[in-house]
Amino acid sequence: MNAQGLSINLATVREQWNLGEAVEACAKLGIKAIDPWRDQVAKFGLDNSAKVIKDNGMQVTGYCRGGMFTHMDAKGRAAAIDDNKRAIDEAQALGADCLVLVVGGVPHGSNDIVGARTQVAEGISAALDHARGAKMPLAIEPLHPMYAADRACVNTLKQALDMAVQLGPDVGVAIDTYHVWWDPELKEQIARAGVEKRIFAHHICDWLVPTKDMLLDRGMMGDGVIDLKAFRGMIEGAGYFGPQEVEIFSAGDWWKKPGEEVLKTCIERYNKFCK
Ligand code: ZN
Repeated sequence: MNAQGLSINLATVREQWNLGEAVEACAKLGIKAIDPWRDQVAKFGLDNSAKVIKDNGMQVTGYCRGGMFTHMDAKGRAAAIDDNKRAIDEAQALGADCLVLVVGGVPHGSNDIVGARTQVAEGISAALDHARGAKMPLAIEPLHPMYAADRACVNTLKQALDMAVQLGPDVGVAIDTYHVWWDPELKEQIARAGVEKRIFAHHICDWLVPTKDMLLDRGMMGDGVIDLKAFRGMIEGAGYFGPQEVEIFSAGDWWKKPGEEVLKTCIERYNKFCK
């Protein structure tokens, strides 16, 4: 089984293994790239995480995640910016290709989504010098609109790219099939992202019908309705040939299976449905 060009977002096996175990299991199957989450790194230790990643020659296709810039009060927003600076430092210590930003939804107690988007732009802008100093690109990940209230008020690739352009160099996008597959402007916006050299990451999984949980029921590639080969064609057509990163939160299914079975299935489905 060929895992060339495949990355595993470690949320995919978060219930089975700690970070060290997950990295070693990936390496054993010939997977050469991963993307860890902050809580996984915190649990395993930053130095230990950096070491096991390095010892196994892993590319780190992203670090999940920064963001959550939206808060009712200035104190909360300032704390979020500080926290993003720490995430940037961690990403740098791990040798990550980018810090992925899930930007935050409408602040609890507010009904102002327009204001929330302004807070996001201001928050990224405030962390940007720090990111540039660390040579850490920031990848805005537009999320499916069902998360606009509680996770991210940036919901389309166009919106994310417009924001990145407004912020300047070193800000780009993480393009996740799960979040943007439905967008009628997808093709032209992926092409635009390529021209502007702002594709920093490509995440994959599938959209299940029915989807039983808004957050924790993502599908394995090939089990849903996304044309992943066509999607990758657009990504490569835009000049991005970096790894495809499998990111599956699946409380009812994949998180319950043995980790090795999950990774082997990722490799098999990646080869069959994604390239
Ligand atoms: Zn993603």
